[in-house]
Amino acid sequence: MKKHNFSAGPSILPQEVLLKASEAIIDFDNSGLSLIEISHRSKPFVDVMEKARALALELLGLEGKGYKALFLQGGASAQFLMVAMNLLEKRAGYLNTGAWSQKAISEAKLLDDIYEVASSEEANFNYIPKGFDIPENYDYFHCTSNNTIFGTQIKSFPNSPIPMVCDMSSDIFSRVLDFSKFDLIYAGAQKNMGPAGTTLVVVKEDILGKVSRKIPSIMDYKSHIKQGSMYNTPPVFAVYTSMLTLEWLKSVGGIAGIEKENEKKARLMYSEIDLNPLFKGFAMKEDRSHMNATFNLVNDNLKDTFETMLKEAGISGVNGHRSVGGYRASMYNALPIDSVKVLVEVMSELESKA
Ligand SMILES: *Cc1c(COP(=O)(O)O)cnc(C)c1O
Repeated sequence: MKKHNFSAGPSILPQEVLLKASEAIIDFDNSGLSLIEISHRSKPFVDVMEKARALALELLGLEGKGYKALFLQGGASAQFLMVAMNLLEKRAGYLNTGAWSQKAISEAKLLDDIYEVASSEEANFNYIPKGFDIPENYDYFHCTSNNTIFGTQIKSFPNSPIPMVCDMSSDIFSRVLDFSKFDLIYAGAQKNMGPAGTTLVVVKEDILGKVSRKIPSIMDYKSHIKQGSMYNTPPVFAVYTSMLTLEWLKSVGGIAGIEKENEKKARLMYSEIDLNPLFKGFAMKEDRSHMNATFNLVNDNLKDTFETMLKEAGISGVNGHRSVGGYRASMYNALPIDSVKVLVEVMSELESKA
């Protein structure tokens, strides 16, 4: 039986996507060939790549606005460096909201000067700093929309006077935003879009080509744009499965449709965390993530009982990250609300037992 999959990443995908993807492994579109044994330059795969790129822009509302969508490799982690290589000339401003922001900062620092516009490190990143200034003379401003490990999420983005770059790995396509406020968005596929192996990059073309350094071709967004996201052999299975997930997302009402479901799931989850005296939420209420809910048991003596109950209910993947401890329920787009209901029932059952 399928488990209730709260894994933080790689994470749950829609069942119908898994089914179609598995069929394509054996026989892609009745071609008598597997998706993973045909040329990436063949028309059937070029069509997949073009469809995936177009759907990404369409769902984000960025069609015809000067943006290009790319499916690259190396994970969001490669983007930490690639962003800086392509955009950093003298100095950039970074918002430090946790482990992933810190990694982005340390990679960019290898190339040039990085200034932390604000940080919540003193509180183990349980909130999002607000009211900071973004200096106008910097090359760009970088932020992380959703902090997967700590369970915080930026609810209101600044009006940046300089290009705004955002790591949206763990909440892309989950809520309605004015995506045109961003000049570059990147997201590893494995949280809300597909299997591990590809990273979506959406970049406004006119911010490119402004740095003086020589950029190696594989690190240069322009070479990937020029080659239609096929500068090198793309990860065909990851791109195809991402395309299927984007089609699924469109069929359930796009981002606006899924946002409503995500809000319902988050409300259910957080109201249990707040009402049940056995649990305590980790993140500050106003910055709580709708994707990753982090919480702890008030009394660790109940740990074994709770974890046995979770297992018996078929709940998987709720262990917290080692830097926060406790529990983390990741409620990505494909997680059905029924899974959240089962988790919440287990939590309240624990209360009635204790
Ligand atoms: C998971 C994650 C990453 C790392 O992604 P990789 O694809 O493993 O490099 C970066 N940023 C955020 C916000 C993440 O959640």
